[in-house]
Amino acid sequence: MDNYIVSARKYRPSTFRSVVGQKALTQTLKNAIDSKKLAHAYLFCGPRGVGKTSCARIFAKTINCFHPTENGEACNECESCRAFNEQRSYNIIELDAASNNSVDDIRTLIDQVRIPPQIGQYKVFIIDEVHMLSAAAFNAFLKTLEEPPHHAIFILATTEKHKILPTILSRCQVYDFQRITTADIAEHLQYVASQEGISAEPEALNVIAQKADGGMRDALSVFDQVVSFSGGNITYKSVIENLNVLDYEYYFRLVDAFLQNNVPQALMIFKEIRDNGFEAQFFIGGLSRHLRDLLVCKDPVTLPLLEVSASVAQRYGEQAQKCPLPFLYRAMELSNRCDLDYRISNNKQFLVELTLIQICQITNPITTTPEGQPLQKITPAPQTAQPTPQARQGAQAPQQQAPANTAATQTSEPQAAYRIAATPSTIQSTRPGTTHTPTPAPAASAAKKAAPVRISIHQKHEESQPQENTPATPKILDTPFTIEALTAAWLGYTQTIPTEVLLVNTMQSCRPQLIDNHTFSVSVDSQIQVDCINEHFHELMSFLQNKLQNNQFSMQLRINQSGEKEIIFSPKDVLVKMIEKNPDVKDLYDTFDLEIA
Ligand SMILES: [Zn+2]
Repeated sequence: MDNYIVSARKYRPSTFRSVVGQKALTQTLKNAIDSKKLAHAYLFCGPRGVGKTSCARIFAKTINCFHPTENGEACNECESCRAFNEQRSYNIIELDAASNNSVDDIRTLIDQVRIPPQIGQYKVFIIDEVHMLSAAAFNAFLKTLEEPPHHAIFILATTEKHKILPTILSRCQVYDFQRITTADIAEHLQYVASQEGISAEPEALNVIAQKADGGMRDALSVFDQVVSFSGGNITYKSVIENLNVLDYEYYFRLVDAFLQNNVPQALMIFKEIRDNGFEAQFFIGGLSRHLRDLLVCKDPVTLPLLEVSASVAQRYGEQAQKCPLPFLYRAMELSNRCDLDYRISNNKQFLVELTLIQICQITNPITTTPEGQPLQKITPAPQTAQPTPQARQGAQAPQQQAPANTAATQTSEPQAAYRIAATPSTIQSTRPGTTHTPTPAPAASAAKKAAPVRISIHQKHEESQPQENTPATPKILDTPFTIEALTAAWLGYTQTIPTEVLLVNTMQSCRPQLIDNHTFSVSVDSQIQVDCINEHFHELMSFLQNKLQNNQFSMQLRINQSGEKEIIFSPKDVLVKMIEKNPDVKDLYDTFDLEIA
């Protein structure tokens, strides 16, 4: 430990070739040196630890080398190279703008620019974190950057390109450094390990590489940490324990549980993870990544996006085979939703558990619509009796769910079915153009004739498709009613549901219109309004039936097309209409000298 040098320094690249993960960029620099087309200012942009400063130093050394090698590298033997390697060269001046960002700092630098190099051709000025320079310092620097002496080359490095003034950007050749891939980092770590005589499992190095997120410097310092606590033998287990990384093993088990619709097991795995001290949000983030990794395994085109070691990649491939694509899409969506809701949730553990339950239900045939949307299987509506075996076989015939033995259950029954199967596909069944007609229960179909309460929805350009929802009522009531009575009853219903703002607004703006003695129509503007009325359909109809003492009428819902918008009558229009119908009204109006409020 006497001469211990951290790996990030010891293995800092000293030639273009040894720079990891920036091949295209180093090649371009080499070509520029080779063809002697050097710019006076370069801007190196990119995330931290990807080799910007290293490249700047290698560049400075190479352009001053007296005998560059055939493949464009510095010789490391001439006087200039030796001075560089021994860090005594006057041809390279570095300024860290993060801590030296004043005008004075820049002035000192500019003074040095004027002095030509004593050996070699160029003086290279590296300004690190250049975006940290104060505005005044920038301005002081600008003049020099515009007209530098021929021996001066500036290399500006920054992690935040967007903060660089356009005046500076336009004077620089810009090089964008990429974040280094996990595979490249892992490979380099393997090289360092072999140089140091350390044995390391590939998965372990992969975890370190992932943790470093594209930065080699971070990867090497994490590597040093791991070496110090694992004593020269780096295993996957020791790495995940010490770096607080969640073992992918959990996720493989969890996805198996999802595919088997095994809710208890999924919940227990989550408990195990929490018991090991991991944050729930951290866990959800990992789950999202695992699902994403499975997804990229499904297609050879996206396979390069998988950043794991070869042996684990095989396991991902195997599990991906078992996962249907709709499952992965839906699971990713649920996992992401959980991540987004996590911060605002008051009961975070419950949120995660609910998400796991929902993911468990995706591939469950009992609870899945053709689109892969989970049904709300957990909460049966209160009035519904035990589901019959037919009902368990599929959600296609939800009406069969309850034996219709009393009038009360008959009335509430289709409504209960709506609640249970409140998914887009069921709601669509009430849309025009679809032919789905729910099968009524036997008793209800016997009573159908007695109570033909119908709902049908029209759209002007499509054929109407009457739907029959058939709550049975025991007694035929057929009291004639007027449009005024109907409207009064219609508005009366809105007072019973003051909190249903959308429905109240819809019903107040869309009034019923009588078509004949037993049919009235309602024109609404959107499908949302149709859905909204449908949701309260049974309550609304029984309210109207009760008020009007008539259960023989039906309602047609119609979505307005443009141009068919319902005319809202002003009180004056109403008066004109009334006079048209009954001229006596005019007499009344004139006689009493009435005014419209
Ligand atoms: Zn040299």
